[in-house]
Amino acid sequence: MMETQPQVNMNMAQKIAKISQMKTAFPAYREILDFFEPVLRERMRYKSKMLKTIARPVINDAGVFDKLQNGVPLIDKSGMQFDEKIMAAHLRVLLGILHSRTHEVADCVADILKKEHYTMFANTSETHHAPASMIRTGSWDILDFLTKEILNPVLEIYAESYHPLLSKAGWENGYCPMCGEPPMMALIAGENGKRFLICGACATRWPFPRTVCPFCGNDDQRQLSYLFMENDNKYRIEVCDVCRQYLKAVDLGDMSLPVDIEVENIITLHLDMIAMETGYTHPVYAGVPEHRLGESLH
Ligand SMILES: [Zn+2]
Ligand SMILES: [Zn+2]
Repeated sequence: MMETQPQVNMNMAQKIAKISQMKTAFPAYREILDFFEPVLRERMRYKSKMLKTIARPVINDAGVFDKLQNGVPLIDKSGMQFDEKIMAAHLRVLLGILHSRTHEVADCVADILKKEHYTMFANTSETHHAPASMIRTGSWDILDFLTKEILNPVLEIYAESYHPLLSKAGWENGYCPMCGEPPMMALIAGENGKRFLICGACATRWPFPRTVCPFCGNDDQRQLSYLFMENDNKYRIEVCDVCRQYLKAVDLGDMSLPVDIEVENIITLHLDMIAMETGYTHPVYAGVPEHRLGESLH
């Protein structure tokens, strides 16, 4: 049985308030947060439009339990539905936001979209990364950003249909029970410091032991450590020396305040840099050519 979970997803008003608070607290991230704010508003609009077009998956309890028990994520990515018109409109809006920040890159993307079909973004649902054919543009991170802004809200819609069942069944794996992606961050919460892993793609969170590496399953404590701690131990980088991968964690202590993991992820980008400079990688960024942590987005 899964336990009560901390609140990690804020509503829109809470998110916007949190963003403006963070702009003051973390001036180094002001620009990226300025960029993120309209993206977030548009994402919410896109998601609510998509929500009306997607048929809720038929959920067969026995089938779901069976999959979860066998470590099979619930969402069939190849069967995801996209309303092409809504998707294309959303892409145009995102391009407008990008264009206001970086003309060169947005022009380049607009050019691709003229030549190729919008559904190419939907076709990336299985790999969850921009396809290699896009790399020729040299702006892979922009395309990856667009890919994820198209896919993730739809993944969230599917994941939300399954959430009630997840809370009844168990899941002991280090990848997302809904979409199979590796966790983006960890959250430590409650009096006993329970660890939850958070999927950056579909926003699902699930409990996972603190003493195990979610990426390779290593549980040898001598090979697991914290690379860095900051801000009264609120933020840390958990590292595994077996697979050389890291996961950022935010420790909520006994606070009952809601936290937004996406905002937390942005204001801790410097921790990703520290981890990578120290020689650790994160699977979400693996395979990203010359990963620049969204450098060209801001
Ligand atoms: Zn997921
Ligand atoms: Zn590991």
